[in-house]
Amino acid sequence: MLTTLQDILKKAHKGNYAVGAFNINNMEICQAIIAAAVKQKSPVILQTSEGALEYAGMDYLKCIAYNAAKQNIPVCLHLDHGRDLSIIKDCIKAGWTGIMYDGSHLPFKQNIKNTKKIVQLAATKNIGVEGELGTIGGAEDKITARTIIYTEPEDAKEFVEKTGVCALAIAIGTSHGAHKFHGTAKLDIKRLQDIKKKIKIPLVLHGASGVPRFLVKQANKYGAQITGSMGVPDEQIKQAIRNGINKINTDTDLRLAFDAGIRKFLKEQPTDFDPRHILGEARTLMQQTVEHRLKLFGSRGKA
Ligand SMILES: [Zn+2]
Repeated sequence: MLTTLQDILKKAHKGNYAVGAFNINNMEICQAIIAAAVKQKSPVILQTSEGALEYAGMDYLKCIAYNAAKQNIPVCLHLDHGRDLSIIKDCIKAGWTGIMYDGSHLPFKQNIKNTKKIVQLAATKNIGVEGELGTIGGAEDKITARTIIYTEPEDAKEFVEKTGVCALAIAIGTSHGAHKFHGTAKLDIKRLQDIKKKIKIPLVLHGASGVPRFLVKQANKYGAQITGSMGVPDEQIKQAIRNGINKINTDTDLRLAFDAGIRKFLKEQPTDFDPRHILGEARTLMQQTVEHRLKLFGSRGKA
């Protein structure tokens, strides 16, 4: 059933688990995510970036997501890293049930001002807003940041009080993409604890893919050239959840599964050019990937 961002996260906050937020760009990706969530009886967030809306079209993605939400599990359709006011307005109008406004690239006061405005807009349809404070490293769709600017706990408190967001994305060491760390993978858990002491709302971890070695290995075996990749280890994800993370974004892992599945199929079945077979293999691998994440997040059985 279609659920708002604030409702899906409120339960997770109370129950000390995290809801997985996975990016959709087409039907197969959405089917893989929903099949995994149904199997694990887990709530789930389907999110669309501005790039995905541009690629697939808002109406297509809405139809796919609304159809997926007919299943008997809570499903939120969320805008990921919204920056363009007209896209944000369109999503609110079209029936998205969660909005992220990303003003993390702006000066602090401007970020507050813009975010507050989006919170008021979304409130007209009773939709909660996720804000972002600090800078998550790496690149994702149209969002790029070279360095990580860690979120300051005192700023986070002021930001939440002044904007009225229902969730806050914080920077504690993660990056978008497949290359999250140089050297050892390490999240700033102490900072997370300090932030959580000051604000009592669900916190969000972006750039949190695990970048499973077997997926990178499979993709590379069949022709990809993904080197130096490193994700967030499962143990650190668990630690982050224990300390107050209630929404975890995952995109890179699905991209890797999609790529690894397709490459393997095409190499092993050179005479089969049926798109259903080619994409079907990728869909299966993506579903397995999502199921692993949902179990890790502790949302299994919480639907
Ligand atoms: Zn992100």
